[in-house]
Amino acid sequence: RGHVEVRDFGLSYPTLDGPMPAVTNASIHINPGEFVSIVGPSGCGKSTLLNAVAGFLKPTVGSVTVDGEAVDGPSAERGMVFQQYSLFPWKTVKGNVEFGMKMKHLDKASRDRAARTLLGITGLTAFENKYPDSLSGGMKQRVGIVRALATGPKVLLCDEPFGALDAQTRVIMQQILTNMWQRLKISVLFVTHDIDEAIFLSDRVYCMTARPGAIKAEIAIPLERP
Ligand code: ADP
Ligand code: ADP
Repeated sequence: RGHVEVRDFGLSYPTLDGPMPAVTNASIHINPGEFVSIVGPSGCGKSTLLNAVAGFLKPTVGSVTVDGEAVDGPSAERGMVFQQYSLFPWKTVKGNVEFGMKMKHLDKASRDRAARTLLGITGLTAFENKYPDSLSGGMKQRVGIVRALATGPKVLLCDEPFGALDAQTRVIMQQILTNMWQRLKISVLFVTHDIDEAIFLSDRVYCMTARPGAIKAEIAIPLERP
């Protein structure tokens, strides 16, 4: 579960000057349960690739499959965490977390149980009735992570999730993410421009450049994990 395959991927955005290629010829894979990062400078196409795996964007060329099935639109099987949190401001913390489960028509008791467990693990229990605007950045992103995980996805997609946080909060959030990844045994695709962060967190890192042939190198991190 959670085997992602992106093959010969290219995506062009329509512009007034015609189609502008954002990514050309990128191929990556994520083995089930693997933590994989993509690093590269701003504008090289990391978010574009990630959004195609999420199903928010369609490849112009190439293919994106998860467990052998072509990605065709967003799905609760692929949870997404955004740099700017993108929480629902009119919903409480618990309401945000339960959103995806409601979409999946889970009954109230199951929603309650799943939400309470995840909120507990991530230290959000005391905040469950608060609204996102009253929370710090780190707390908002805890909610973002929990919301993405609440529906039991096979793959967690993270787009610079800690890019807006201070260094100290970042370390705490990295620990929370690593902890959730190990507990849930899901695959993670993590996008960042911080190569240190990528190496610190990942089993494998892809390096992307803005030049044609987007993926330039692949680094396996030979670390034993605790
Ligand atoms: P990164 O995540 O690595 O910063 P992006 O995937 O956001 O890179 O962007 C890749 C390229 O595509 C950039 O040149 C960016 O300006 C362009 N781009 C991104 N989104 C759009 C869009 N909606 N329309 C046109 N061009 C876009
Ligand atoms: P080393 O012994 O290799 O110099 P560090 O002192 O750099 O290790 O790292 C010690 C701790 O700092 C790590 O266990 C980790 O919690 C944190 N850390 C290291 N690098 C990063 C990074 N790029 N991003 C966030 N946290 C980091």
